[in-house]
Amino acid sequence: MSSTLSTLLVENRRYEPSAEFRSQANVSDARVYGEALGDPIGFWEAWAKQLDWFEPWTTQLEWKKPFARWFVGGRLNACHNCVDRHVANGLGSKVALIGEGEPGDVRAFTYAHVKDEVSKIANALKAMGVKKGDRVCIYMPMIPELPFTMLACARIGAAHSVVFGGFSSESLYERINDAGAKVVVTADGGWRRGNVVPLKKIADEALASGCPTVTKVLVYERIGEGAEFDRGNWTEGRDLRWSETVDTASTDCPCEPMDSEDLLYILYTSGSTGKPKGIMHTTGGYLTQVYATTQWVFDLKPDDVYWCTADCGWVTGHSYIVYGPMANAATAVVYEGTPDTPDKDRFWRVIEKHKVSILYTAPTAIRTFMKWGEEYPERCDLSSLRLLGSVGEPINPEAWVWYQETIGKGRCPVVDTWWQTETGAIMITPLPGITATKPGSATQPFPGIKAVVFDESGGDVTPVQGALGFYREHAPAQGPERGGILAITDPWPSMLRGIWGDQERYQNVYWSRFDDAYFPGDGTKVDEDGYFWLLGRIDDVMLVSGHNISTMEVESALVDHPAVAEAAVIGRAHEIKGQGISAFVILRAGSAPSPSGEEAVRLAAEIKEHVAKKIGAIARPDDLFFCAELPKTRSGKIMRRLLRDVAEGRALGDTTTLADPSVVAALKEKYESSES
Ligand code: ATP
Ligand code: MG
Repeated sequence: MSSTLSTLLVENRRYEPSAEFRSQANVSDARVYGEALGDPIGFWEAWAKQLDWFEPWTTQLEWKKPFARWFVGGRLNACHNCVDRHVANGLGSKVALIGEGEPGDVRAFTYAHVKDEVSKIANALKAMGVKKGDRVCIYMPMIPELPFTMLACARIGAAHSVVFGGFSSESLYERINDAGAKVVVTADGGWRRGNVVPLKKIADEALASGCPTVTKVLVYERIGEGAEFDRGNWTEGRDLRWSETVDTASTDCPCEPMDSEDLLYILYTSGSTGKPKGIMHTTGGYLTQVYATTQWVFDLKPDDVYWCTADCGWVTGHSYIVYGPMANAATAVVYEGTPDTPDKDRFWRVIEKHKVSILYTAPTAIRTFMKWGEEYPERCDLSSLRLLGSVGEPINPEAWVWYQETIGKGRCPVVDTWWQTETGAIMITPLPGITATKPGSATQPFPGIKAVVFDESGGDVTPVQGALGFYREHAPAQGPERGGILAITDPWPSMLRGIWGDQERYQNVYWSRFDDAYFPGDGTKVDEDGYFWLLGRIDDVMLVSGHNISTMEVESALVDHPAVAEAAVIGRAHEIKGQGISAFVILRAGSAPSPSGEEAVRLAAEIKEHVAKKIGAIARPDDLFFCAELPKTRSGKIMRRLLRDVAEGRALGDTTTLADPSVVAALKEKYESSES
């Protein structure tokens, strides 16, 4: 690889925070960056002090690379901080969660109510023999009982491992055994696109494959008697009904005082690059950073109605449905089902009905909404919205602008937040009352976070000073805009504490690339204002005629064409260029009839030309293939490694984390027949 990424896409649009937003923002003074730079540990300590501690810490940070310990000696409980302290502070009657089921059932829970529900679950878990330090696997639909069960584990000091309810029995089996879970908490089923996902039956299959550590299975009756579906096999002695155990348990359960560094949870990464890793997060530092980022990034206020559309099976659900918002006493919406049930306007209906003011969703969802068309959001009153967030993948400028204009009506700041399961909390993001945003850029590191850009040889190419004058003390001064590899040089409170059961892999994956910095695996460019433009995984970067080209930039140019809804780009072996560019393209609804024959050839040529015009001839796709769907993980990320397998005619690699394995199989078949 040559030393830098070519930076092709030029994006000059810029959005200043409105005076109105700035004047009410939780943070509006850019000096916070400089202050945090001067004393990052003190900055985080000030946030930690806003939480309730049973005992104060003696040392702020112990750093023995790659192992960090934050707020050493302190004792606290995450559930106490997310629930009990709000009740104690007079917020018992404030609504904590509004759960909307896919069939339309709505249940709201106040903080006092949550405290009772969580305490009952905690007592039921204790009665099943769960003790501090044990692991509990949670395999549930997106209903309020899922966050409640997470909090119940935290309450008694057991670590939870949430497995997304869309995962198969094999994936569940692997995760139960990897974590050595003592109890599995599940439901009879959950609603998805009008059908029941038979969770208990799938859990039974996983357990039948051999899970020797599991002694009990607790089953919430979500579907109940009303529907016909496969309920699995009831195993007397092992299986327990929620209605007979939790509902009858006492509401009195004290919070276990935990060490700041005690394990809060294990969570497996989404697996877009390979075998998932059991990421470990602990209590004090994690809670501090999710608390701080929720308050500043989302500008959360007491009367906001906040909706993060992620599932609790992903880290976004952990940090920005449960721990961050609830540590801030937020009112949050939890929605069970899909965005197209009963119709493609469901998200907008949810927003209208509950007067959602803050929406946090993913680029894959935004591109899907664009593909469906504006008629759906236009049916609903979205005037309650005041801030929009994005997470999970780089957001193409076209999708960013659509989100800002069509959903936010030009009125709501958009915060594109870069982070990962491993970082635990948001790392690179605008602060909506301070930062001028640029579509496609996650802008700048959160105060107290030291992120830099290295070139291939480990040389620092970050510009001297960001627009906000943050953190660069010395000057490499390498020209206006440079591409390279993202690195984080200093420990942060919510950083992973390792990989469950495999600290050697932890060392190898994250701490062997650079001598002295954390390696997240993502490419980025940085512009003259010090803004970061995340370019996706460096594994996805293409090397075309000696130029490193990011898949993200070519994809952004493709979706900029009016007929294109979504695109995935990969590098495939090419005799002359080293790698050629293959594009997989989904067309927008109504923009063209599913093209075939001459029409397809003409449109493909036009779209390729659009890319060449937009970012240069070097990035013109060599081939362009129209498809109906792209292979995605269950969290909605495109799996480019499988597309590379398709384009290079290989057998498909690991497909266990795919949302729908038939998509890639069909794609492979169609691709191979179109080549001949
Ligand atoms: P695995 O590590 O198992 O392959 P994964 O990386 O997809 O899975 P996550 O931790 O859920 O699992 O995703 C984090 C990754 O998502 C980041 O490393 C980055 O590549 C991408 N990402 C998340 N948010 C953004 C963003 N705002 N901009 C660009 N990329 C993002
Ligand atoms: Mg990852």
